[in-house]
Amino acid sequence: MPAILKKDKLQALLSGLSRAYKLVLPVRENGMTYFKPYQTGLAIDRDYINTAMSPKEFLFPQTEKMLSFKYREGAEILITGAEPQPEKLAVFGARSCDLAGIAALDPVFGGRFPDPQYSTRRDRVLLVGLGCRRASSTCFCRAFNIDPLSCNGADIAVVELEDCFSVEARTDKGHAQLANFSQLLGEDNSGTVETSLSGAREAIDTSFDGIPDPAGIKDFLDRQFELPYWENIASRCLGCGICTYICPTCHCFDIFDVTRGKPDGNRYRCWDSCMFPDFTGMAGGHNPRPTPKERVRNRFMHKLKYHLDRYEIGGCVGCGRCVEKCPVNLDIRQVINDINKLQGGEN
Ligand code: SF4
Ligand code: SF4
Repeated sequence: MPAILKKDKLQALLSGLSRAYKLVLPVRENGMTYFKPYQTGLAIDRDYINTAMSPKEFLFPQTEKMLSFKYREGAEILITGAEPQPEKLAVFGARSCDLAGIAALDPVFGGRFPDPQYSTRRDRVLLVGLGCRRASSTCFCRAFNIDPLSCNGADIAVVELEDCFSVEARTDKGHAQLANFSQLLGEDNSGTVETSLSGAREAIDTSFDGIPDPAGIKDFLDRQFELPYWENIASRCLGCGICTYICPTCHCFDIFDVTRGKPDGNRYRCWDSCMFPDFTGMAGGHNPRPTPKERVRNRFMHKLKYHLDRYEIGGCVGCGRCVEKCPVNLDIRQVINDINKLQGGEN
């Protein structure tokens, strides 16, 4: 059962968390909301729909050092490890779609080929979800059965209600942390929090009218690869890669060595994008995705089919970031609707 946190106690909770963890939380800056490190007096944005970048960057940073190497004449190359153990991090304010995004990344980096850097960060992070009270016109998480109030996947779930927050630990890590704040929390003896939560759920559910239905899309894409449709929509794509950089589930990276002309250096990995022409370029000059058609198809197939094929979890969580930011309005919701129509034509 959720506990109650009075609104004037939020700062005390954040301050307490910041003593145990490096704490990041949503802050409004230049018209957008970003996760920023906590400082005393920093105003938390409680009115945002979604942050400009998802919390993916805290588990899978945009650029990170993998190792250092030193060439020694007549001896083996000396290789030293990655960056030191990352700080314990608490992310306050992860939305349900972004928590679902992390659930989609977990099998990629923690499955058959575990990635030690992701796994270490994942073990050391405390995810505090913040349920959504309203959706924007670009949100469609409900299409993928994500409940925006639920904060599934969080260690601690928080929902802002009229005059308090409901706070619930969902994992052992969450329980252990909340135990430190028992003096701030009250019990919901009258059941008002449960009643307010179901009212809030009904209210936000009305915000999702007209969202697409992706239910049959994967089956259709399993059968259809060479659709002229991809060429039609790809002609608009600029190949800017924004859609992949801001996506909470995209996870492609490039690896490169920086030596600055010396026989020693560092190996880094940084985010890459399947929307860039040279992403699939091969040493002999062959490129299996030579035109925007193949690249756009790959991106939507990855979101709606390939990730499900590989990990049995969807590659889109309906956060709406790519819908909002694509400069030519290549809208994944429209793609789902269009494919549904093509599917109707097939029957
Ligand atoms: S954001 Fe739009 S234009 Fe840019 S690569 Fe993605 S689909 Fe293409
Ligand atoms: S494909 Fe677009 S809507 Fe789906 S999770 Fe990625 S950024 Fe969000």
